[in-house]
Amino acid sequence: MKVLVVNAGSSSLKYQLFDMDTEEVIAKGNAERIGLDGSFLKHKAKGVETILSKVLTNHAEAIKLILDTLVDAQIGVIKSIDEIDAIGHRVVHGGSEYTKPTLVNQKVIDDLRGLVDFAPVHAIPNTDGIIGCVQVAPQIPNVTVFDTAFHSTMPDYAYLYGIPMEYYRDYAVRRYGAHGTSHKFVGQKLAEYMGVPFDKCKLITCHIGNGSSITAIKDGKCIDTSMGFTPLEGLIMGTRCGDIDANVIQFLCKKTGLDVNQVTDILNKKSGLLGITERSSDMRDICAMYEKGDKAAVLALEMLAYRIKKYIGAYAAALDGVDGICFTAGIGENTPELREMVLTGLKYLGIKFDKDANYSIPRGEDGLLTSKDSAIPVYVISTNEELAIAKETVELVSNLKK
Ligand code: AMP
Repeated sequence: MKVLVVNAGSSSLKYQLFDMDTEEVIAKGNAERIGLDGSFLKHKAKGVETILSKVLTNHAEAIKLILDTLVDAQIGVIKSIDEIDAIGHRVVHGGSEYTKPTLVNQKVIDDLRGLVDFAPVHAIPNTDGIIGCVQVAPQIPNVTVFDTAFHSTMPDYAYLYGIPMEYYRDYAVRRYGAHGTSHKFVGQKLAEYMGVPFDKCKLITCHIGNGSSITAIKDGKCIDTSMGFTPLEGLIMGTRCGDIDANVIQFLCKKTGLDVNQVTDILNKKSGLLGITERSSDMRDICAMYEKGDKAAVLALEMLAYRIKKYIGAYAAALDGVDGICFTAGIGENTPELREMVLTGLKYLGIKFDKDANYSIPRGEDGLLTSKDSAIPVYVISTNEELAIAKETVELVSNLKK
């Protein structure tokens, strides 16, 4: 079975074509600058990368170019698009209604467009990507896989805010979480490494990337996660502030003369690691600054590590104990300095950090960060959201055929 996974952003559209019999990626790439001058497609297959410059005014044109490229006699990998059994779409927000992978029809498209207030940056491009596929290849089933879905099992006392209930009833203001596909994927791998069934253990998964979140998983189900109504809540991120006293917004409006939209924009786009270091949101830059002893970089890492520790502690309490922890995503997988800061401060949980292992696990590989006699094993695990989406897509499409 072949599955195309699509991740549509506002001006880009990433794709991976999987052969699901082997779980191998047979082609992947990115259509960039969609709707802008200088649009192009970067396509990689059989170890060769090709750049194709072409005017792409919308997502449908990008999808058409991708499908044409996949069947191209020279750089393609399949003979006909009929070889693609299904297309799986990453969708950032499913609201309260969409809690499982869903086969696309017109109602789904209309509903997703209506979720723009929940995912202001992603809802429209995600939907444009789906519409593009439906237009260009109506014969291929499209499946939406939601970043919020894995968190739909949170109990009400965890997902509700302490604000008047009418706002939940009237406007669905509640915590939804994000990165659910990744948390589930690495949680399942963590349980596998620990040799226990995923549905019979208590896990904490730390997805630390440009956007970051931590999830508490009990018996295979999410019981709490650090992101909230939008991906602004929780940890300090690349450019997002994470948890903050809501009164700061009104105070800053008063002091600076900025309006509420401008301050909210600052909290989303100019805060976090960027705001603290006043130079970069990118952990590679911050690590380089940290190595030179840059005080702002040291502070940024300490603040991030401290907040990760607080969430691990909170979730160990929420779970009433924890059997395993893992780190994943761009920063979690690649920044041993940060992992050391977090893991040397969790002795009360019986965690015995293995410093040598932490610094010697090759980038991109999974490994154990604690010694054999640690009460709780902690792993670094590479996430693979595209493969997870492809698997969910196969499951849904296979069930349809039964
Ligand atoms: P993600 O959102 O998961 O793609 O993660 C992006 C973050 O991971 C950025 O802050 C990157 O700087 C960081 N990152 C990626 N590769 C490395 C690396 N080799 N060393 C340190 N940070 C990295």
